[in-house]
Amino acid sequence: MVTLQKQLSVDYTKCTGCRLCELACSAKHEGVFQPSLARLRIVKYDDLGLDIPNVCGPCEEAPCVDICPVYAMRRDPVTKMVYLEEDKCILCKACVGVCTAGVIRLDTVAMRIIKCDHCGGDPECVKICPTGAITYGTPAQTAVVERHGKLKAYVAEIHRNAMKE
Ligand code: SF4
Ligand code: SF4
Ligand code: SF4
Repeated sequence: MVTLQKQLSVDYTKCTGCRLCELACSAKHEGVFQPSLARLRIVKYDDLGLDIPNVCGPCEEAPCVDICPVYAMRRDPVTKMVYLEEDKCILCKACVGVCTAGVIRLDTVAMRIIKCDHCGGDPECVKICPTGAITYGTPAQTAVVERHGKLKAYVAEIHRNAMKE
């Protein structure tokens, strides 16, 4: 059987900033409604009136995999999904710093790394999102995400310039 590469895709123009996705993610994985334990994050740009969901992948390169000194971050060669083997992790936190989306997190209470696992192929964030801002699909949709990445960089640039003024 051929396993298709599936990724989370984001259309930030549909995001209302309700943050239900963060709550659903933490509830599913931790049994609590606690956004700081979510495996995705909604970044709010008040001045621009935008809320941008940051999710794991798709990454052309996977810096979290490259930087991990003990091969605890691995990438499935077929699905391209990055997964964490928790028992190998030595908590150096290098992956946290290198993740460009800021979605690899340190749980400072339990002292462990947490990251998205696509909910085993049935993403809770996708199911809960009332506007369809997050979807889950195959490479055809990935191209949309790449465009989104460029837009996100553009918005960040506007934001930086606005801060300078
Ligand atoms: S649930 Fe959907 S609309 Fe609400 S914050 Fe998350 S991505 Fe945005
Ligand atoms: S914190 Fe763990 S998973 Fe992350 S780079 Fe260090 S050893 Fe690897
Ligand atoms: S796919 Fe699952 S683990 Fe990943 S951000 Fe969505 S709810 Fe969280």
